[in-house]
Amino acid sequence: MKKKLKPDQAIAKAQDLAEGQLLDEAIALLEVQDGHPECDYRRAGYLLIQGRAAEAEPLYRRILAAMPGHLDTMVGLAGCLVELGRPREALPLLQPAVLAQPQSGRIHYLAGIALDEAGLADHAKAHLAKARALVIAPAERRQLVPYEIYVQMSRRCNLRCTMCGWEIWKDNSGFMTEEVFERVMAEAKIAGITTMHILAGQGEPFLHPQAFEMLERAVAAGFEVGIVTNGTPFTPERIERLAGLGLAYLQFSFAGWDAPSYEGVYVGAKFERTLANLKAIHVALKPTRTRFAVKAVALGDWKESLRKTKAFLASHGIDQVWTVPANNFGGSVQCGTLSPRHGIWSLKRIDHHRLMPCRLFLKAVGVFCDGTVTACGCYDSNAQLKLGNIMEQGLAAIRQGETYGRILDGFRTGDVRDVPMCGTCDDPFG
Ligand code: SF4
Ligand code: SF4
Repeated sequence: MKKKLKPDQAIAKAQDLAEGQLLDEAIALLEVQDGHPECDYRRAGYLLIQGRAAEAEPLYRRILAAMPGHLDTMVGLAGCLVELGRPREALPLLQPAVLAQPQSGRIHYLAGIALDEAGLADHAKAHLAKARALVIAPAERRQLVPYEIYVQMSRRCNLRCTMCGWEIWKDNSGFMTEEVFERVMAEAKIAGITTMHILAGQGEPFLHPQAFEMLERAVAAGFEVGIVTNGTPFTPERIERLAGLGLAYLQFSFAGWDAPSYEGVYVGAKFERTLANLKAIHVALKPTRTRFAVKAVALGDWKESLRKTKAFLASHGIDQVWTVPANNFGGSVQCGTLSPRHGIWSLKRIDHHRLMPCRLFLKAVGVFCDGTVTACGCYDSNAQLKLGNIMEQGLAAIRQGETYGRILDGFRTGDVRDVPMCGTCDDPFG
């Protein structure tokens, strides 16, 4: 018989499970500790994330009965009530919370939503504006200079994954020249950037003929370099070289447990070949400083897909698996359901959320292989959010320019409907 975990052990284990998106398992683990206030509080939070507000409500109420005035529980219960369509009941819980923590963006955000849904739109505006201002403030303190950079070493990709926005790509060719890469590193240094992510918009970085030499230079220049790969363009020699690079992280994109489940998503790749690369890279990186993780962006029944992928990879000794449901790729992929309130497609439930400043937009820029700088390092494959070109201007000047300022104003006021991509992206909700 299994020994029952102590509450603090159960909380730590549940947190690990939740970070791996295994919320059902995290909830079940905490259910065993029913009645322990901290375990109940965590369980209610996970239930709420899952959209099970009706089950979370009695847990929050029970904690409050034992600890009247517990602020975090009051805020949690308020979130529940908004989800359950009872925003007026949330207001008396949020008023003291706002007074107690006037600099909490989360509390202002929730108060704004509750007031708005209670039909008090004018009162809601001030709270939502404050919540947005608090998110933007750190970027303003840096005079809008980015602190991370996404670099597109290769615009070319050899696959056609179902969760990707490849159908709208205008071009599927082009590698970053050494001249552009040198400028990227120089401008990033001037901006004080230390974190460099190798992937932007589209493309498989390891298709670049000089990928290894360029990565070696970036690491030697002192950048914490992370890379995302589909794991296909590798040989034993390349894997050995990869292990010697000193990367900060390598994210291997993979989901599936047999040829049909993998090849049906990663169209153009071969299951057996990718799996061999995955296993070899996992082993090669183990003794190095490079954090290795499998990231699977899954469509459809992604929870079931995650469970099967995890079980399959665990049988090969690989347990660093991180899966997220697909997003709508800056509005270019129609997935999930259409939110009646926002008119945006999403796999998330975004109706009870409001637009907040996009954190990717605030923290980073993307630089494409031709030097184009985009406001969206992740999804902007066609440079619709072009801010400038790194061969002509420094990053600070680019971010302080008119285009970035106009989009930022949209996020500040909560209206980016006129901005390409951001206007239909589901990332800034929830
Ligand atoms: S998801 Fe990545 S690997 Fe797949 S087609 Fe898009 S860019 Fe290529
Ligand atoms: S809102 Fe979406 S499209 Fe716009 S910068 Fe953020 S992630 Fe990119």
